[in-house]
Amino acid sequence: MPYIQFLGAAGTVTGSKHLINTTNDASGKQGFQALVDCGLFQGQKEWRERNWQDIPIPAREIDAVILTHAHLDHCGWIPRLVKEGFHGPIYATQATIDLCSVVLPDSGHLQEEDAAFYNKKKLSKHSPALPLYTLEEAQECLQYFKPVAVEQAVDLSRELSFRFVRAAHILGSCMAEVALKTNGQARRLLFTGDIGRVRDNEVAPGKVVHSGPQEGESADVLVMESTYGNRQHPDTDPRPQLADLIRKTTARGGSVIVPAFAVERTQKFLFMLKELMESGEIPRTPVFCDSPMAIKAVEIFLKHSEEYTQQAAELIRKYGSPLEWPGFSFALTSEESKKINDSKFPSVIISSSGMVTGGRILHHLAQRLPDPKNLVIFIGFQAPGTRGFTIKSGGAEVKIFGLFIPIRAQVAALEKFSDHADPPELLEWLHTFKNKPGVTYLVHGEPAAAAQLRDTMKKELGWNVQVAEYREICDL
Ligand SMILES: [Zn+2]
Repeated sequence: MPYIQFLGAAGTVTGSKHLINTTNDASGKQGFQALVDCGLFQGQKEWRERNWQDIPIPAREIDAVILTHAHLDHCGWIPRLVKEGFHGPIYATQATIDLCSVVLPDSGHLQEEDAAFYNKKKLSKHSPALPLYTLEEAQECLQYFKPVAVEQAVDLSRELSFRFVRAAHILGSCMAEVALKTNGQARRLLFTGDIGRVRDNEVAPGKVVHSGPQEGESADVLVMESTYGNRQHPDTDPRPQLADLIRKTTARGGSVIVPAFAVERTQKFLFMLKELMESGEIPRTPVFCDSPMAIKAVEIFLKHSEEYTQQAAELIRKYGSPLEWPGFSFALTSEESKKINDSKFPSVIISSSGMVTGGRILHHLAQRLPDPKNLVIFIGFQAPGTRGFTIKSGGAEVKIFGLFIPIRAQVAALEKFSDHADPPELLEWLHTFKNKPGVTYLVHGEPAAAAQLRDTMKKELGWNVQVAEYREICDL
């Protein structure tokens, strides 16, 4: 019988990997095998260790990957899959491919840096510590990507086809509508990937992509994310609070450090800073966008105008490319990056990774966290087990470069930048469905979030909803 197996993002928000096997053979002989997403586990060691475990089927036996979007927790295991022998097509939108060509090599670079650090400090029980994949291996895997237009039907095999529809989460992001025909029976599966905010509004400013996921869906089996299953987004405009935080910090001579994913979130934040400076709500403070990926990310962002909301289009028309803004510095060399540490003047430093799991943000925070004049602003979700989570949740110290750094700087979290729909928004979208799916599996959520969303959906919609478990096999 055909089945889905959840190989990641079950019980956690990272490592998205859902296997579809069209097998019809009672002996268990495999059918066509497609992976929807192939993400990296991030966060606690327990999860990260899964990046090193083999998946239950040999990588070379997987026939295709369908990639919903370019966040590492959805695409970051692709180089490893290729390294393990996968040589099939990886289907994604062109914008997703462009973003992957930046984020995957960067991820390889970080893996190599981590391994080198562990070897230098002799911190690993493995000798030598090895990277999960290298920068070069990440670059090599890009040859397998195949661009697919939104709503273009793709036949994978006699039994399996799919098309992408808008997910409105980040640039290039899509849901995958999969059609499965076996034994004369047709079934529709919908894999949501991550779901964007339902519509543009003043309380979700800076949103780039089309408003709202595709409406009027129908599915027999729905595999849906649940990141914000137990939380609601604030319904106020974050900009006055952001301006107030920045004004107060610079007035006391402190700097603002913003850990942010270099792609998408950073671009949104840059436009917001520019707007606040132009309107005089914050002083003209030097801004360092300290990520080696920053220039490429801005260029990709500017290239894909087909994805813009009206609001994003207007901002770009008004202010042009962030790369040309006076007072904004980009893609510094690592020496220039370290020099920011010597600066005695207030500045805004935006750097990655967004959850402080690696990258240049580490040395900025190691330098600035001990000083109460400074401010750290989180504008993204922090997975438990990450340094970002420790800092955000009021920890007294955090381990960076093997040292415990005291956290004395002010810490603020603006949840309002989220690119994920919250429960009222999800329900609004689910109400547009043409049918009641036979079963919904919730993935991509912490256990409490997934459980609460399951209960909400049962109560509000009367649907059959289950929380997916790691490595669980569900017959189709
Ligand atoms: Zn995402």
